[in-house]
Amino acid sequence: MPKRRGRVLHDHHHVSPHRPPHWSYTDTERGWGKVAGSSKIEWTEATWNPVTGCDQISPGCAHCYAKTFAERWRGVPAHPYEQGFDLKLWPERLEVPLHWRKPKTIFVNSMSDVFHEAIPDDYVAQIFETMRAAHWHTFQVLTKREERMLRLAGKLTWPPNVWMGVTIENRRFVHRADALREVPAAVRFISAEPLLGELENLSLDGIAWLIAGGESGPRHRRVDAEWIRDLRDRCAGADTAFFFKQWGGARPKSNGRTLDGRVHDDFPRQAVALG
Ligand code: SF4
Repeated sequence: MPKRRGRVLHDHHHVSPHRPPHWSYTDTERGWGKVAGSSKIEWTEATWNPVTGCDQISPGCAHCYAKTFAERWRGVPAHPYEQGFDLKLWPERLEVPLHWRKPKTIFVNSMSDVFHEAIPDDYVAQIFETMRAAHWHTFQVLTKREERMLRLAGKLTWPPNVWMGVTIENRRFVHRADALREVPAAVRFISAEPLLGELENLSLDGIAWLIAGGESGPRHRRVDAEWIRDLRDRCAGADTAFFFKQWGGARPKSNGRTLDGRVHDDFPRQAVALG
């Protein structure tokens, strides 16, 4: 069994660290869904992973905890991450949200990237079809692969319960927001986490929501408070909902999530309408 010392909680965690390694995918997927608020991520309620595994493509991926987590289980027979962080399609999970009756906010592919180049077009289309059919849920899709998102956008349906987001970790990647603005999603959002630099050149036009946060983990890169304040202030000016997730540090909760005396927990207005 892989060692579990030094466990780090992260965005990508949707697996309880205390789960035994022999659960079947069905038990785990449905089990996680049954636990209300089964995700530890502050800005969502549940996760759904019809794909697991990914490849690092961007500075924000350097300390990808999804990878760290998945690789701990590599080689453990019958574990959902027996194959580590190698990309794996799970067609048997494609319709899982349809079985969750209670409306939830669901982060899609917290352990992968929906627009990873190795996921077939028709598989991505099936993920979107489930989101369309499961209209009582709200789905949050987040990618660092904006070019493929844009290439496929015209072939996908964009129902109002699908929020589309891109990660922007430093000023070199603000063009991802330009690609996002081309996508006909009802809600467009940016995840500026782990924030690795100032985003002074980021336009918030057409962006309904911005999540910011510092990195956590043993090798975290420190976030500068001024980078966060700048985003907070520009969100206020642009009517973009601002969510400050964490300062980060050795652990996600190391330094809390208070910014200048208050917590920022805003969601886009459509979230209220959909709820
Ligand atoms: S895109 Fe996301 S899941 Fe993929 S390697 Fe980067 S941080 Fe990890």
